[in-house]
Amino acid sequence: MDELERRAEGATAADVRAALRKEERRDLRDLAVLLSPAAAEMLEEVALASSRLTGRRFGRTILLYAPLYISNECVNVCTYCGFRRDIDVSRLTLAPEEIEREARYLAGEGFRHILLVAGEHPKKIPLDYVERAVRVTRHFAPSVTLEVQPYTAGEYGRLVAAGADGVTLYQEVYDEERYASYHTHGPKKDYADRLEAPCRAAESGIRRIGIGALLGLAPWRREAFLLAAHADSILRRYWRTQLAVSFPRIRDAASHFDAPAPVSDRDLAAMICAFRLVFPDAGLVLSTRESRELRDGLVRLGITQISAGSKTEPGGYGGPREAEGQFAVSDSRSPGEVAERLAALGFEPVWKDWEEALHG
Ligand code: SF4
Repeated sequence: MDELERRAEGATAADVRAALRKEERRDLRDLAVLLSPAAAEMLEEVALASSRLTGRRFGRTILLYAPLYISNECVNVCTYCGFRRDIDVSRLTLAPEEIEREARYLAGEGFRHILLVAGEHPKKIPLDYVERAVRVTRHFAPSVTLEVQPYTAGEYGRLVAAGADGVTLYQEVYDEERYASYHTHGPKKDYADRLEAPCRAAESGIRRIGIGALLGLAPWRREAFLLAAHADSILRRYWRTQLAVSFPRIRDAASHFDAPAPVSDRDLAAMICAFRLVFPDAGLVLSTRESRELRDGLVRLGITQISAGSKTEPGGYGGPREAEGQFAVSDSRSPGEVAERLAALGFEPVWKDWEEALHG
């Protein structure tokens, strides 16, 4: 990593142009150049290259998905999170019929990709429960992805058999020392176990893997290098797996956590463009944490998947019970409004992607 940091520090405008002109596949050394201070001065050129490459690989399509929070119970203390176990917030684990109601609602809004989200709580959110949640949701959506605790390869295999086709698992912060300071209690303290979990999921036959860092926890450039190295190692081992990279920035939550290393809009855009240029086929994901204006801008540069109309509390789409949300949503447009805006920008909003149509 030190070598990539040195390469970024020493990169010149000529190095950036050479990386942009490169015909063969770009690598992590190119990423360092594309995220250098020199590249920051040339963001418009980098963005144009990223936008063109995204158009060639994905056409003008944006995949829409919705999170469905099934539980906000958690035994971990992640100091930045509104669901951490030592905060007194209203907690709720949805019953299967409540999951069904939420999934039916989202299907009614047009969604065919649903992301099931839960905290980590072996007693209240056991594997059997998650398996059942997948089965229930699968009736309404051909693509069910999980953003839940890490599992063993065998356990992931059970979730694949239940119908899950994707696993999203953010390392949150790649810097190991900082990881220890933010994850103070619970099984999530195990850095290595979490880092290896996407590979265990891939081994189990899951088709889509999502990774990411929670931006704002550590200096962004080094985090971007470490995230890219993680993506690269997964793709080398599991080249058949579709990889997606998310770029969540810290938002307000019940934890009242102030980001110690805030990431500016410009740095976020630079990161998205550099990842596109180095990982041309990866899905790049942006959630409703970001404002409508920024999301409308970033879909033009390299983002290919966005959530819409999101609620971050269990039962948020119409449940009668009250529970705390994980973080504040910034883009509060309805899914229909987001789809309309995408169309106005010249994009085709995709609710169900081609692969499912071919293999589903
Ligand atoms: S980030 Fe996830 S594991 Fe950590 S406290 Fe929040 S819900 Fe629990």
